[in-house]
Amino acid sequence: MKLHEYQAKALMERFGVPMLPGIPATTPEAAIDAANALSGDLYVVKAQIHAGGRGKGRFIEDVDAAAISAAAKGEDAPGKGGVRLAKSVDEVGQIAGEMLGKTLVTKQTGEEGRVVRAVYVCEACDIAEEFYLSVLLDRSNNKVLFMGSKEGGVNIEEVAETNPDAIFQVHVDSAVGFQAFQGREIAAKLGLTGRTARKAVGFFKTLFDAYMGLDCAMLEINPLVLSEQGDLIALDAKMEIDGNALFRHADIVEMRDLHEEDPTEIEASEFGLSFIKLDGNIGCMVNGAGLAMSTMDIIQYKGASPANFLDVGGGAKQEQVEAAFRIITKDPSVKGILVNIFGGIMKCDVIAKGVIGAVKEVGLEVPLVVRLSGTNAELGKKILSESGLDLIPATNLDDAADAIVAAVKGA
Ligand code: GDP
Ligand code: MG
Repeated sequence: MKLHEYQAKALMERFGVPMLPGIPATTPEAAIDAANALSGDLYVVKAQIHAGGRGKGRFIEDVDAAAISAAAKGEDAPGKGGVRLAKSVDEVGQIAGEMLGKTLVTKQTGEEGRVVRAVYVCEACDIAEEFYLSVLLDRSNNKVLFMGSKEGGVNIEEVAETNPDAIFQVHVDSAVGFQAFQGREIAAKLGLTGRTARKAVGFFKTLFDAYMGLDCAMLEINPLVLSEQGDLIALDAKMEIDGNALFRHADIVEMRDLHEEDPTEIEASEFGLSFIKLDGNIGCMVNGAGLAMSTMDIIQYKGASPANFLDVGGGAKQEQVEAAFRIITKDPSVKGILVNIFGGIMKCDVIAKGVIGAVKEVGLEVPLVVRLSGTNAELGKKILSESGLDLIPATNLDDAADAIVAAVKGA
């Protein structure tokens, strides 16, 4: 689950990560109140969306199509961005008014952009240097990975493409915990020395503690800055919480912003379905993640590509099956549907009834191939054939894939 910057920073504060004070606001008046509650006379107003690259982003309402297409590529474009400095409280209100309710396009949003529903008003600082630092899980060796670069700031993707050697890695064993020598290594690789390097070790430890304590899947600080006064500050934060750990973070679950999520994936999660939209044209309804993956593989092997990953789970009820079918058929890129069920705990007759119920409700305009095997398969096939539904039955995965690919290519 992804979080907004202001939410991530509120969580990081519990672990003592050094940051500048900030207050979120959803109206220009609230932004002015926020600025009044902060100290100093320079502020930053930051659009809150689940995407980075806001500084170089542009608002659809403000600029022409050429500037928007440049912003979507992360290129410089005329116009004002989604992270702006303000020299007075009034200017904070003005900038908030210019951002709220508008659609911001950045390198990470695509050209359709995201609507800004909140801004984060922060105290600003004088930046001496900008670095990149992120904490993630390195699955290939079961360790927590600190990835960093001296070339921080807004262009890290470009650094990764053009100068990958400028990015370093330091691994931490989560069972042993973060060690001071690892902190010194990261500090040295960022080119920090003396007192700043010593302070940095404590800084990195707070990041590690936040990453572990919040069950993050990813925590990215870009930029991590060294201020003119010699302080290290996490100026930006992008955080993703491991969905499998959300059951132990009720407070974080409440921060979920459904506006930022794909509506189809939200509907699927309401019905307890694991659904991921892909860009092919064969809709798949399968039980079990492993079978779903092999179904996708075989579709690919037969020369077509899947429109989605969908696992209806082991013990799905008829209404979940109906929801799954509805979600698949709603996608206009779906040109054929493959239902592939191996009944274990899941009973094939439940699938058959679910498919019939859904077709009655939403209709069926594309070819449908159904392969049922295992518990109550015969009963399921009987229910389907007696329903009069126009479907193509298949006996095994190989036939099923051949049939759906042929039907889609023929259509
Ligand atoms: P992003 O573009 O979505 O990654 O948003 P960031 O929060 O990283 O801000 C983009 C850039 O704005 C940073 O790299 C800084 O250069 C600049 N910026 C953000 N906050 C401050 C600040 O307090 N002072 C100054 N001078 N620049 C800032
Ligand atoms: Mg950033």
